[in-house]
Amino acid sequence: MDYKDYYKILGLARGASADDIKKAFRKLARKYHPDVNPGDKKAEEKFKEINEAYEVLSDPEKRQKYDTLGPNWQEQFGPSPSAAGRRTQYAGGRANPFDFDAGGTGFSDFFEALFGRTGPAGARPGTIRPDQRKRAGENLDQPVEVTLQEAYLGGTRTFNIQSTEDCTTCRGMGEVGNKPCPTCGGSGSLPRNKRIQVKIPAGVDNGSRIRVAGEGQPGIGGGPRGDLFLVISVKPDGKFERKGDDLSVDVEVDLVTAMLGGEVAVPTPDGRKLLLTIPAETQNDRPFRLTGKGMPRLRGEGNGNLYARAKVILPMNLSAEERSLFEKLGRLRSEAGRV
Ligand SMILES: [Zn+2]
Repeated sequence: MDYKDYYKILGLARGASADDIKKAFRKLARKYHPDVNPGDKKAEEKFKEINEAYEVLSDPEKRQKYDTLGPNWQEQFGPSPSAAGRRTQYAGGRANPFDFDAGGTGFSDFFEALFGRTGPAGARPGTIRPDQRKRAGENLDQPVEVTLQEAYLGGTRTFNIQSTEDCTTCRGMGEVGNKPCPTCGGSGSLPRNKRIQVKIPAGVDNGSRIRVAGEGQPGIGGGPRGDLFLVISVKPDGKFERKGDDLSVDVEVDLVTAMLGGEVAVPTPDGRKLLLTIPAETQNDRPFRLTGKGMPRLRGEGNGNLYARAKVILPMNLSAEERSLFEKLGRLRSEAGRV
C-alpha cells in the first residue's frame, strides 16, 4: 500500500490554508472532471485522486490525522480492519455488492486504512456517482447590522453581493491550451457583483441567519450555487433593552403622577406612544407589563411583551409656595408617625 501525498496531488505545500486547498481543488476538479474528459480513464483516475485528497484535506479532523502520519504510518494504523472484515464476510463466493475495487475505482487502500471504508458521508466509494461529480458551491455569509426599529418593523435591504462566477473564456479551468487563461489569470473564476434586494423579516435578533437561496459561490460540475446567508446583528439601542422577544424601557413619571396615579406615555421602537395608566403610589423602578407590545416573534405568532419601568422624577427648582407645601406634608407625616 503506497503512501499518498494529498498535498502533492493538489499541488500544495503542507501548510496550505483552507482557502488554498479549496481553490486548488476547484481548479483541478474542473480540469479533470469526467464531463470534460469523456472516456478518458486517466483523467477519471486523476479526478478521483483529487476528490480523495480534497476529502481529507478539507476536513479538519481528517487532515489532522493525516498530517500526524510519519514514515512509519503503516505501523501506526496497520491494514484496515474494515477491509479485512469485508473479505471474510464475502468469502463464500457470493458477489460482494460493495466491492467496487475490482475496477480500481474506489478511494485508495491508503484512504481506507486511515479513515475506514465509509469515505464521504453516505457515499459508497467505488464508482463515481453522478452526485459526486456535482458539488454545490460554498455558502457565503454577509454580516448585516440593523437598528432595533428595523428589527421591530422588518424591511428590505439592497446589497452588493460579491462572489465569483466561472470564467467563460476557460470554462472555469484556468487554462487555455496549457497556458494560464488570459481572462481570469488562471484562477478559473471571475468576480461577480450582484445587487440584490432582500426582505429582512420582523423580529430578527443577533445571530439570526436569513437564507437567500442560490446567491453563494458557484457549484462544480453543474452543481448548484451555494446559498447566501445574511448574518444579523442588531445595533444596541439607547432606549430599549431587549431580552429575546421582550423589551423594556424606562418611562419618566413625575412625582405627582406617581403619587396620585394617572397616565404616562410609553414609547415603542417604531416611534409610537402607548398610554399606560399607572396606579396611585407607584414606586420608583416598578415595571408595568404591556402584553404583546414587545418584539414580533421571528418564528411563531404575535409579539413578546414590553415592560415599562417607572422612573420617578423628583421636582427641582421649587418655588417658595411649593417648598412650604412639602414642609407641610413633612409635618403631617411626622405627626402621624409615617415618615
Ligand atoms: Zn479563465
